[in-house]
Amino acid sequence: MVILVHPPVTKPSEPPAGIARLAGALRCHGVPCTLVDANLEGLLFLMNRPQAATDTWTRRALKNLPHSLSSLKDRGTYAVPDRYKRAVLDIQRVLEQSALHAGVSVGLVDYRDGELSPVRSADLLRAAECPEANPFFPYFQERLSVLLEGDSSLPVVGFSLNYLSQALCTFAMIGFLRREFPNLPLVLGGGLITSWVRRPGWRSPFGGLVDHLVAGPGEGPLFEILGMDASGNGQAPPDYAGLPLGDYLSPGFILPYSGSSGCHWRRCAFCPERGEGNPYLPVPTTRIVSDLRAYAGETRPALIHLLDNALRPSLLEALAENPPGAPWYGFTRAGRQLADFDYCLALKESGCVMLKLGMESGDQAVLDRMQKGLSLNTVSKVLKNLQRAGISAYVYLLFGTPPENLARARRTLAFVVRHRAAIRFLNLAIFNLPIGAADGEALQTRRFYAGDLSLYTDFVHPEGWDRRHIRQFLEREFKKAPAVASILRHHPPHFTSNHAPFFGMDGSGR
Ligand code: SF4
Repeated sequence: MVILVHPPVTKPSEPPAGIARLAGALRCHGVPCTLVDANLEGLLFLMNRPQAATDTWTRRALKNLPHSLSSLKDRGTYAVPDRYKRAVLDIQRVLEQSALHAGVSVGLVDYRDGELSPVRSADLLRAAECPEANPFFPYFQERLSVLLEGDSSLPVVGFSLNYLSQALCTFAMIGFLRREFPNLPLVLGGGLITSWVRRPGWRSPFGGLVDHLVAGPGEGPLFEILGMDASGNGQAPPDYAGLPLGDYLSPGFILPYSGSSGCHWRRCAFCPERGEGNPYLPVPTTRIVSDLRAYAGETRPALIHLLDNALRPSLLEALAENPPGAPWYGFTRAGRQLADFDYCLALKESGCVMLKLGMESGDQAVLDRMQKGLSLNTVSKVLKNLQRAGISAYVYLLFGTPPENLARARRTLAFVVRHRAAIRFLNLAIFNLPIGAADGEALQTRRFYAGDLSLYTDFVHPEGWDRRHIRQFLEREFKKAPAVASILRHHPPHFTSNHAPFFGMDGSGR
Protein backbone atom coordinates (compact mmCIF):
# COMPACT_ATOMS: atom_id res chain seq x y z
CA MET A 1 0.00 0.00 0.00
CA VAL A 2 1.30 3.44 -0.91
CA ILE A 3 -0.06 6.82 0.20
CA LEU A 4 0.90 9.73 -2.05
CA VAL A 5 0.50 13.26 -0.73
CA HIS A 6 0.42 16.57 -2.61
CA PRO A 7 1.19 19.15 0.12
CA PRO A 8 0.04 22.80 0.38
CA VAL A 9 0.39 25.37 -1.15
CA THR A 10 -0.15 25.30 -4.92
CA LYS A 11 -2.97 26.65 -7.06
CA PRO A 12 -6.08 24.62 -6.22
CA SER A 13 -7.47 24.74 -9.75
CA GLU A 14 -6.72 21.21 -10.97
CA PRO A 15 -5.71 17.82 -9.59
CA PRO A 16 -1.99 17.21 -9.02
CA ALA A 17 -0.43 15.49 -12.02
CA GLY A 18 2.68 14.15 -10.25
CA ILE A 19 0.96 11.83 -7.77
CA ALA A 20 -1.64 10.82 -10.40
CA ARG A 21 1.17 9.67 -12.70
CA LEU A 22 2.69 7.58 -9.92
CA ALA A 23 -0.75 6.18 -9.03
CA GLY A 24 -1.21 5.12 -12.67
CA ALA A 25 2.06 3.17 -12.62
CA LEU A 26 1.44 1.63 -9.18
CA ARG A 27 -2.16 0.57 -9.78
CA CYS A 28 -1.26 -0.83 -13.18
CA HIS A 29 1.10 -3.20 -11.32
CA GLY A 30 -1.52 -4.10 -8.74
CA VAL A 31 -0.16 -1.90 -5.92
CA PRO A 32 -3.02 -0.26 -3.96
CA CYS A 33 -2.53 3.44 -3.70
CA THR A 34 -4.32 6.30 -1.92
CA LEU A 35 -4.00 9.85 -3.23
CA VAL A 36 -4.27 12.80 -0.85
CA ASP A 37 -4.52 16.30 -2.26
CA ALA A 38 -3.57 17.93 1.04
CA ASN A 39 -3.29 21.23 -0.82
CA LEU A 40 -6.94 21.50 -1.84
CA GLU A 41 -8.21 19.88 1.36
CA GLY A 42 -5.95 22.02 3.53
CA LEU A 43 -6.87 25.30 1.83
CA LEU A 44 -10.59 24.50 2.15
CA PHE A 45 -9.99 23.62 5.81
CA LEU A 46 -8.33 27.00 6.46
CA MET A 47 -10.99 28.94 4.61
CA ASN A 48 -13.91 27.25 6.30
CA ARG A 49 -12.79 27.21 9.89
CA PRO A 50 -14.26 29.99 12.04
CA GLN A 51 -12.22 33.18 12.10
CA ALA A 52 -12.79 36.66 13.42
CA ALA A 53 -12.85 39.51 10.92
CA THR A 54 -11.08 42.69 11.95
CA ASP A 55 -11.95 44.81 8.93
CA THR A 56 -14.76 45.40 6.47
CA TRP A 57 -13.13 43.61 3.52
CA THR A 58 -12.50 40.43 5.52
CA ARG A 59 -16.05 40.53 6.94
CA ARG A 60 -17.48 40.80 3.45
CA ALA A 61 -15.11 38.17 2.04
CA LEU A 62 -16.05 35.72 4.81
CA LYS A 63 -19.75 36.31 4.29
CA ASN A 64 -19.38 35.82 0.54
CA LEU A 65 -17.04 32.82 0.75
CA PRO A 66 -19.55 30.09 -0.26
CA HIS A 67 -20.67 32.24 -3.17
CA SER A 68 -17.08 33.10 -4.20
CA LEU A 69 -16.09 29.43 -4.19
CA SER A 70 -19.08 28.34 -6.20
CA SER A 71 -18.74 31.22 -8.65
CA LEU A 72 -15.22 30.06 -9.63
CA LYS A 73 -16.84 26.77 -10.63
CA ASP A 74 -19.37 28.57 -12.83
CA ARG A 75 -18.38 29.23 -16.45
CA GLY A 76 -20.57 32.36 -16.49
CA THR A 77 -18.26 34.08 -13.98
CA TYR A 78 -15.43 34.02 -16.53
CA ALA A 79 -17.53 36.06 -18.95
CA VAL A 80 -17.60 38.92 -16.41
CA PRO A 81 -13.94 39.57 -15.48
CA ASP A 82 -14.78 41.98 -12.64
CA ARG A 83 -16.98 39.36 -10.96
CA TYR A 84 -14.22 36.77 -11.39
CA LYS A 85 -11.59 39.09 -9.90
CA ARG A 86 -13.73 39.91 -6.93
CA ALA A 87 -14.34 36.23 -6.14
CA VAL A 88 -10.61 35.41 -6.40
CA LEU A 89 -9.49 38.40 -4.33
CA ASP A 90 -12.10 37.66 -1.65
CA ILE A 91 -10.96 34.03 -1.37
CA GLN A 92 -7.36 35.20 -1.19
CA ARG A 93 -8.33 37.65 1.56
CA VAL A 94 -9.96 34.93 3.65
CA LEU A 95 -6.90 32.70 3.25
CA GLU A 96 -4.44 35.48 4.08
CA GLN A 97 -6.28 36.33 7.26
CA SER A 98 -6.75 32.71 8.30
CA ALA A 99 -3.18 32.10 9.44
CA LEU A 100 -1.96 35.55 10.46
CA HIS A 101 -2.18 34.55 14.13
CA ALA A 102 0.47 31.90 13.38
CA GLY A 103 2.74 34.49 11.77
CA VAL A 104 2.09 32.96 8.36
CA SER A 105 0.63 34.43 5.19
CA VAL A 106 -1.19 31.76 3.20
CA GLY A 107 -2.54 32.52 -0.26
CA LEU A 108 -3.92 30.71 -3.27
CA VAL A 109 -0.40 30.41 -4.66
CA ASP A 110 1.99 31.09 -1.81
CA TYR A 111 2.94 30.34 1.75
CA ARG A 112 5.14 32.82 3.64
CA ASP A 113 6.30 32.23 7.16
CA GLY A 114 7.47 35.29 9.11
CA GLU A 115 10.38 33.33 10.60
CA LEU A 116 11.12 30.26 8.51
CA SER A 117 12.50 30.25 4.99
CA PRO A 118 11.87 27.41 2.51
CA VAL A 119 15.41 27.80 1.13
CA ARG A 120 17.14 27.16 4.47
CA SER A 121 17.50 23.50 5.37
CA ALA A 122 17.73 24.39 9.09
CA ASP A 123 14.31 26.06 8.81
CA LEU A 124 12.79 23.05 7.05
CA LEU A 125 14.09 20.86 9.87
CA ARG A 126 12.58 23.29 12.40
CA ALA A 127 9.23 23.04 10.59
CA ALA A 128 9.52 19.25 10.96
CA GLU A 129 10.40 19.48 14.65
CA CYS A 130 7.40 21.63 15.42
CA PRO A 131 4.52 20.62 13.11
CA GLU A 132 1.96 22.12 15.54
CA ALA A 133 3.15 25.59 14.50
CA ASN A 134 1.98 24.99 10.93
CA PRO A 135 -1.52 26.43 10.30
CA PHE A 136 -2.53 23.24 8.44
CA PHE A 137 -1.63 21.06 11.45
CA PRO A 138 -5.19 20.35 12.72
CA TYR A 139 -6.13 19.28 9.19
CA PHE A 140 -3.19 16.99 8.41
CA GLN A 141 -2.98 15.57 11.94
CA GLU A 142 -6.49 14.18 11.64
CA ARG A 143 -6.36 13.29 7.95
CA LEU A 144 -3.09 11.35 8.11
CA SER A 145 -3.87 9.72 11.46
CA VAL A 146 -7.22 8.41 10.22
CA LEU A 147 -5.58 7.10 7.05
CA LEU A 148 -2.73 5.38 8.84
CA GLU A 149 -4.57 4.08 11.88
CA GLY A 150 -7.08 2.39 9.59
CA ASP A 151 -4.29 0.52 7.80
CA SER A 152 -2.88 -2.60 9.40
CA SER A 153 0.01 -2.83 6.90
CA LEU A 154 2.96 -0.47 7.04
CA PRO A 155 2.37 1.70 3.97
CA VAL A 156 5.01 3.70 2.18
CA VAL A 157 4.15 7.41 2.29
CA GLY A 158 5.41 9.60 -0.56
CA PHE A 159 5.38 13.40 -0.74
CA SER A 160 5.48 15.30 -4.01
CA LEU A 161 7.34 18.59 -3.48
CA ASN A 162 7.42 20.74 -6.58
CA TYR A 163 7.36 24.37 -5.46
CA LEU A 164 9.00 26.39 -2.69
CA SER A 165 5.49 27.34 -1.54
CA GLN A 166 5.03 23.66 -0.52
CA ALA A 167 8.34 23.14 1.26
CA LEU A 168 7.60 24.24 4.85
CA CYS A 169 4.23 22.44 4.93
CA THR A 170 5.78 19.29 3.44
CA PHE A 171 8.38 19.19 6.21
CA ALA A 172 5.78 19.91 8.89
CA MET A 173 3.77 16.90 7.64
CA ILE A 174 6.88 14.71 7.45
CA GLY A 175 7.91 15.78 10.97
CA PHE A 176 4.48 14.85 12.30
CA LEU A 177 4.58 11.40 10.66
CA ARG A 178 8.16 10.72 11.76
CA ARG A 179 7.20 11.49 15.37
CA GLU A 180 3.83 9.69 15.48
CA PHE A 181 4.65 6.76 13.18
CA PRO A 182 8.43 6.34 13.56
CA ASN A 183 8.68 3.15 11.45
CA LEU A 184 6.81 4.49 8.46
CA PRO A 185 8.98 4.55 5.30
CA LEU A 186 8.90 8.17 4.03
CA VAL A 187 9.78 9.08 0.44
CA LEU A 188 10.27 12.64 -0.82
CA GLY A 189 10.33 13.48 -4.55
CA GLY A 190 9.04 16.03 -7.05
CA GLY A 191 10.42 18.84 -9.17
CA LEU A 192 11.94 20.89 -6.34
CA ILE A 193 13.68 17.84 -4.86
CA THR A 194 15.04 17.04 -8.33
CA SER A 195 16.46 20.58 -8.63
CA TRP A 196 18.02 20.40 -5.16
CA VAL A 197 19.54 16.96 -5.63
CA ARG A 198 21.00 17.93 -9.03
CA ARG A 199 22.70 21.04 -7.65
CA PRO A 200 26.49 20.85 -7.79
CA GLY A 201 27.90 19.53 -4.50
CA TRP A 202 24.52 18.43 -3.08
CA ARG A 203 24.57 16.60 0.27
CA SER A 204 21.22 15.82 1.84
CA PRO A 205 20.55 17.57 5.16
CA PHE A 206 17.36 15.48 5.62
CA GLY A 207 18.93 12.07 6.28
CA GLY A 208 17.39 11.45 9.71
CA LEU A 209 13.95 12.52 8.60
CA VAL A 210 13.31 11.11 5.14
CA ASP A 211 14.15 7.55 4.12
CA HIS A 212 14.41 8.13 0.38
CA LEU A 213 14.98 11.30 -1.65
CA VAL A 214 13.97 10.77 -5.28
CA ALA A 215 15.26 12.95 -8.14
CA GLY A 216 13.53 12.78 -11.53
CA PRO A 217 10.61 10.50 -12.45
CA GLY A 218 9.54 8.60 -9.32
CA GLU A 219 8.04 5.43 -10.77
CA GLY A 220 11.27 3.41 -10.98
CA PRO A 221 12.60 4.35 -7.52
CA LEU A 222 9.17 3.67 -5.94
CA PHE A 223 9.08 0.17 -7.40
CA GLU A 224 12.59 -0.42 -6.13
CA ILE A 225 11.59 0.74 -2.64
CA LEU A 226 8.64 -1.66 -2.79
CA GLY A 227 10.99 -4.43 -3.89
CA MET A 228 9.22 -4.91 -7.21
CA ASP A 229 10.45 -5.43 -10.76
CA ALA A 230 10.27 -1.95 -12.31
CA SER A 231 10.51 -2.93 -15.98
CA GLY A 232 7.83 -1.34 -18.15
CA ASN A 233 6.40 0.74 -15.32
CA GLY A 234 6.72 4.01 -17.27
CA GLN A 235 3.96 3.08 -19.70
CA ALA A 236 0.86 3.46 -17.52
CA PRO A 237 -1.35 6.54 -18.02
CA PRO A 238 -1.97 8.82 -15.01
CA ASP A 239 -4.83 7.80 -12.74
CA TYR A 240 -6.83 10.51 -10.94
CA ALA A 241 -9.22 8.14 -9.15
CA GLY A 242 -9.67 9.00 -5.50
CA LEU A 243 -9.00 12.72 -5.89
CA PRO A 244 -11.90 15.12 -5.20
CA LEU A 245 -12.35 16.03 -8.88
CA GLY A 246 -15.50 18.09 -8.26
CA ASP A 247 -13.92 20.33 -5.61
CA TYR A 248 -11.22 22.15 -7.58
CA LEU A 249 -11.70 25.86 -8.08
CA SER A 250 -12.37 25.80 -11.80
CA PRO A 251 -15.45 25.67 -14.02
CA GLY A 252 -15.25 21.92 -14.60
CA PHE A 253 -12.60 19.24 -14.42
CA ILE A 254 -9.19 20.29 -15.75
CA LEU A 255 -7.22 17.28 -16.90
CA PRO A 256 -3.46 17.78 -16.52
CA TYR A 257 -1.40 15.57 -18.85
CA SER A 258 2.33 15.38 -19.50
CA GLY A 259 3.45 14.40 -22.98
CA SER A 260 7.12 14.50 -21.98
CA SER A 261 9.56 15.39 -19.27
CA GLY A 262 12.57 17.58 -20.00
CA CYS A 263 12.52 19.73 -23.13
CA HIS A 264 12.94 18.81 -26.80
CA TRP A 265 14.75 22.11 -27.50
CA ARG A 266 17.11 22.21 -24.50
CA ARG A 267 19.29 24.93 -25.99
CA CYS A 268 18.23 28.15 -24.24
CA ALA A 269 20.98 29.71 -22.16
CA PHE A 270 20.48 29.58 -18.36
CA CYS A 271 17.51 27.17 -18.64
CA PRO A 272 17.36 24.89 -15.58
CA GLU A 273 16.27 21.98 -17.81
CA ARG A 274 19.65 22.23 -19.52
CA GLY A 275 21.61 23.13 -16.41
CA GLU A 276 20.26 20.16 -14.42
CA GLY A 277 20.97 17.85 -17.34
CA ASN A 278 17.37 16.58 -17.32
CA PRO A 279 16.95 14.16 -20.22
CA TYR A 280 14.15 14.63 -22.74
CA LEU A 281 11.75 11.73 -22.27
CA PRO A 282 8.78 11.96 -24.64
CA VAL A 283 5.70 9.77 -24.27
CA PRO A 284 5.08 8.25 -27.73
CA THR A 285 2.79 10.52 -29.72
CA THR A 286 0.31 7.74 -30.54
CA ARG A 287 0.04 6.97 -26.80
CA ILE A 288 -0.69 10.62 -26.00
CA VAL A 289 -3.38 10.83 -28.66
CA SER A 290 -5.08 7.64 -27.48
CA ASP A 291 -4.74 8.55 -23.76
CA LEU A 292 -6.29 11.97 -24.28
CA ARG A 293 -9.16 10.59 -26.34
CA ALA A 294 -9.86 7.95 -23.71
CA TYR A 295 -9.74 10.48 -20.85
CA ALA A 296 -11.88 12.98 -22.69
CA GLY A 297 -14.47 10.27 -23.33
CA GLU A 298 -14.48 9.04 -19.74
CA THR A 299 -14.13 12.22 -17.71
CA ARG A 300 -15.52 14.92 -20.04
CA PRO A 301 -12.94 17.52 -18.96
CA ALA A 302 -13.74 21.19 -19.31
CA LEU A 303 -10.12 21.67 -20.35
CA ILE A 304 -6.97 19.64 -20.99
CA HIS A 305 -3.79 21.19 -19.57
CA LEU A 306 -0.75 19.88 -21.44
CA LEU A 307 2.13 20.21 -18.99
CA ASP A 308 5.14 19.79 -21.29
CA ASN A 309 7.87 22.43 -20.97
CA ALA A 310 7.50 22.89 -24.74
CA LEU A 311 5.02 20.93 -26.85
CA ARG A 312 7.00 19.38 -29.71
CA PRO A 313 5.90 20.23 -33.28
CA SER A 314 5.14 16.58 -34.08
CA LEU A 315 2.76 16.41 -31.12
CA LEU A 316 0.99 19.61 -32.17
CA GLU A 317 0.55 18.12 -35.65
CA ALA A 318 -0.82 14.91 -34.20
CA LEU A 319 -3.31 16.84 -32.04
CA ALA A 320 -4.40 18.88 -35.08
CA GLU A 321 -5.06 15.63 -36.95
CA ASN A 322 -6.59 13.78 -33.98
CA PRO A 323 -8.51 16.27 -31.83
CA PRO A 324 -8.51 15.06 -28.23
CA GLY A 325 -12.21 15.80 -27.80
CA ALA A 326 -11.96 18.66 -25.29
CA PRO A 327 -10.48 22.19 -25.32
CA TRP A 328 -6.74 22.16 -24.61
CA TYR A 329 -3.76 24.43 -24.02
CA GLY A 330 -0.05 24.27 -23.30
CA PHE A 331 3.41 25.79 -23.67
CA THR A 332 5.16 25.76 -27.01
CA ARG A 333 7.84 27.57 -28.96
CA ALA A 334 6.85 30.24 -31.47
CA GLY A 335 8.48 28.24 -34.27
CA ARG A 336 7.96 28.33 -38.03
CA GLN A 337 5.06 25.78 -38.03
CA LEU A 338 2.88 28.33 -36.26
CA ALA A 339 3.82 30.93 -38.90
CA ASP A 340 1.45 28.99 -41.20
CA PHE A 341 -2.09 30.27 -40.71
CA ASP A 342 -3.76 27.03 -41.88
CA TYR A 343 -1.75 25.14 -39.28
CA CYS A 344 -2.98 27.50 -36.53
CA LEU A 345 -6.52 27.10 -37.80
CA ALA A 346 -6.18 23.31 -37.65
CA LEU A 347 -4.98 23.62 -34.05
CA LYS A 348 -7.95 25.81 -33.20
CA GLU A 349 -10.33 23.31 -34.78
CA SER A 350 -8.73 20.53 -32.73
CA GLY A 351 -9.70 22.39 -29.56
CA CYS A 352 -6.61 24.53 -28.88
CA VAL A 353 -7.81 27.58 -26.94
CA MET A 354 -4.52 29.05 -25.73
CA LEU A 355 -0.79 28.70 -26.35
CA LYS A 356 1.82 29.88 -23.89
CA LEU A 357 4.88 31.24 -25.67
CA GLY A 358 8.24 31.79 -23.96
CA MET A 359 9.25 34.76 -26.06
CA GLU A 360 11.43 36.38 -23.32
CA SER A 361 12.55 39.45 -25.33
CA GLY A 362 11.50 41.64 -28.24
CA ASP A 363 15.12 42.30 -29.16
CA GLN A 364 16.68 39.97 -31.74
CA ALA A 365 20.20 40.29 -30.35
CA VAL A 366 19.00 39.20 -26.88
CA LEU A 367 17.14 36.22 -28.36
CA ASP A 368 20.22 35.19 -30.33
CA ARG A 369 22.56 35.49 -27.35
CA MET A 370 20.10 33.47 -25.24
CA GLN A 371 20.03 30.78 -27.99
CA LYS A 372 16.25 30.90 -28.06
CA GLY A 373 16.23 29.93 -31.76
CA LEU A 374 13.44 32.47 -32.36
CA SER A 375 13.18 35.07 -35.10
CA LEU A 376 11.11 38.13 -34.24
CA ASN A 377 9.67 38.12 -37.77
CA THR A 378 8.39 34.61 -37.16
CA VAL A 379 7.09 35.45 -33.67
CA SER A 380 5.24 38.40 -35.18
CA LYS A 381 3.57 36.14 -37.78
CA VAL A 382 2.77 33.53 -35.13
CA LEU A 383 1.04 36.08 -32.90
CA LYS A 384 -1.04 37.44 -35.78
CA ASN A 385 -1.98 33.92 -36.93
CA LEU A 386 -3.04 32.86 -33.45
CA GLN A 387 -5.19 35.96 -33.12
CA ARG A 388 -6.83 35.35 -36.52
CA ALA A 389 -7.40 31.70 -35.69
CA GLY A 390 -8.97 32.57 -32.31
CA ILE A 391 -6.25 31.06 -30.10
CA SER A 392 -5.23 33.21 -27.10
CA ALA A 393 -1.50 33.99 -26.94
CA TYR A 394 -0.08 34.03 -23.41
CA VAL A 395 3.35 35.63 -23.82
CA TYR A 396 6.15 35.22 -21.26
CA LEU A 397 8.76 37.98 -21.06
CA LEU A 398 11.99 37.86 -19.07
CA PHE A 399 13.81 41.06 -18.13
CA GLY A 400 17.38 41.44 -16.93
CA THR A 401 19.03 38.57 -18.82
CA PRO A 402 22.79 39.13 -19.20
CA PRO A 403 22.59 40.38 -22.83
CA GLU A 404 19.75 42.83 -22.07
CA ASN A 405 20.04 46.52 -21.25
CA LEU A 406 17.58 49.40 -21.03
CA ALA A 407 17.61 50.11 -24.77
CA ARG A 408 16.93 46.42 -25.51
CA ALA A 409 14.17 46.21 -22.89
CA ARG A 410 12.59 49.21 -24.62
CA ARG A 411 12.61 47.24 -27.87
CA THR A 412 10.60 44.55 -26.05
CA LEU A 413 8.14 47.24 -25.01
CA ALA A 414 7.92 48.50 -28.60
CA PHE A 415 7.32 44.91 -29.84
CA VAL A 416 4.50 44.40 -27.34
CA VAL A 417 2.94 47.74 -28.27
CA ARG A 418 3.06 46.79 -31.99
CA HIS A 419 1.45 43.42 -31.26
CA ARG A 420 -0.96 44.53 -28.54
CA ALA A 421 -4.02 43.29 -30.42
CA ALA A 422 -2.53 39.79 -30.76
CA ILE A 423 -1.23 39.35 -27.20
CA ARG A 424 -4.04 38.29 -24.91
CA PHE A 425 -2.04 37.74 -21.71
CA LEU A 426 1.41 38.77 -20.54
CA ASN A 427 3.65 37.28 -17.86
CA LEU A 428 6.52 39.52 -16.73
CA ALA A 429 9.47 38.07 -14.82
CA ILE A 430 12.90 39.20 -13.72
CA PHE A 431 15.80 36.93 -14.60
CA ASN A 432 17.44 34.85 -11.84
CA LEU A 433 20.80 33.23 -12.47
CA PRO A 434 20.67 29.49 -11.65
CA ILE A 435 23.51 28.39 -9.34
CA GLY A 436 26.23 26.62 -11.31
CA ALA A 437 24.80 27.57 -14.73
CA ALA A 438 27.47 26.81 -17.33
CA ASP A 439 26.39 29.89 -19.31
CA GLY A 440 27.02 32.02 -16.23
CA GLU A 441 30.72 31.26 -15.85
CA ALA A 442 31.77 34.65 -17.24
CA LEU A 443 29.50 36.49 -14.79
CA GLN A 444 30.58 37.80 -11.42
CA THR A 445 28.24 36.19 -8.87
CA ARG A 446 27.28 36.90 -5.25
CA ARG A 447 24.82 35.27 -2.82
CA PHE A 448 21.16 36.05 -3.47
CA TYR A 449 19.10 34.65 -0.60
CA ALA A 450 20.42 33.67 2.81
CA GLY A 451 19.64 30.02 2.15
CA ASP A 452 21.71 26.91 1.48
CA LEU A 453 18.88 25.52 -0.70
CA SER A 454 18.50 28.52 -2.97
CA LEU A 455 18.54 27.54 -6.63
CA TYR A 456 19.65 30.97 -7.76
CA THR A 457 22.49 33.36 -7.17
CA ASP A 458 22.81 37.09 -7.62
CA PHE A 459 25.19 38.40 -10.27
CA VAL A 460 26.74 41.66 -11.37
CA HIS A 461 24.96 42.53 -14.60
CA PRO A 462 27.57 43.22 -17.30
CA GLU A 463 25.62 46.30 -18.44
CA GLY A 464 24.70 47.57 -14.98
CA TRP A 465 21.07 46.57 -15.67
CA ASP A 466 20.38 45.46 -12.12
CA ARG A 467 17.14 44.43 -10.40
CA ARG A 468 16.48 47.90 -9.00
CA HIS A 469 16.70 49.50 -12.44
CA ILE A 470 14.63 46.72 -14.01
CA ARG A 471 11.89 47.10 -11.40
CA GLN A 472 11.83 50.85 -11.97
CA PHE A 473 11.59 50.34 -15.71
CA LEU A 474 8.78 47.79 -15.33
CA GLU A 475 6.76 49.89 -12.89
CA ARG A 476 7.33 53.37 -14.32
CA GLU A 477 7.57 52.69 -18.02
CA PHE A 478 6.62 49.22 -19.20
CA LYS A 479 3.43 48.68 -17.21
CA LYS A 480 2.38 52.31 -17.66
CA ALA A 481 2.33 52.04 -21.46
CA PRO A 482 -1.40 52.08 -22.34
CA ALA A 483 -1.10 48.98 -24.57
CA VAL A 484 0.60 46.98 -21.80
CA ALA A 485 -1.72 48.29 -19.10
CA SER A 486 -4.69 47.21 -21.17
CA ILE A 487 -3.30 43.65 -21.55
CA LEU A 488 -2.39 43.40 -17.85
CA ARG A 489 -5.88 44.51 -16.80
CA HIS A 490 -7.15 41.16 -18.07
CA HIS A 491 -4.61 39.11 -16.17
CA PRO A 492 -6.40 36.56 -13.94
CA PRO A 493 -5.11 37.32 -10.42
CA HIS A 494 -3.33 34.47 -8.60
CA PHE A 495 -4.58 31.69 -10.91
CA THR A 496 -2.93 33.37 -13.98
CA SER A 497 -2.46 30.92 -16.87
CA ASN A 498 -4.41 28.13 -15.11
CA HIS A 499 -7.64 30.07 -15.51
CA ALA A 500 -6.71 32.24 -18.52
CA PRO A 501 -8.02 29.73 -21.13
CA PHE A 502 -11.54 30.10 -19.72
CA PHE A 503 -11.62 33.77 -20.68
CA GLY A 504 -12.96 34.11 -24.18
CA MET A 505 -13.49 30.34 -24.61
CA ASP A 506 -17.03 31.21 -25.63
CA GLY A 507 -15.60 33.23 -28.52
CA SER A 508 -16.17 36.57 -26.82
CA GLY A 509 -13.54 39.26 -27.18
CA ARG A 510 -11.83 41.02 -24.31
S1 SF4 B 1 12.20 26.06 -24.57
FE1 SF4 B 1 11.92 26.46 -22.35
S2 SF4 B 1 12.36 24.53 -21.32
FE2 SF4 B 1 13.16 24.38 -23.41
S3 SF4 B 1 15.30 24.98 -23.29
FE3 SF4 B 1 14.15 26.82 -23.78
S4 SF4 B 1 13.64 27.77 -21.81
FE4 SF4 B 1 14.28 25.65 -21.41
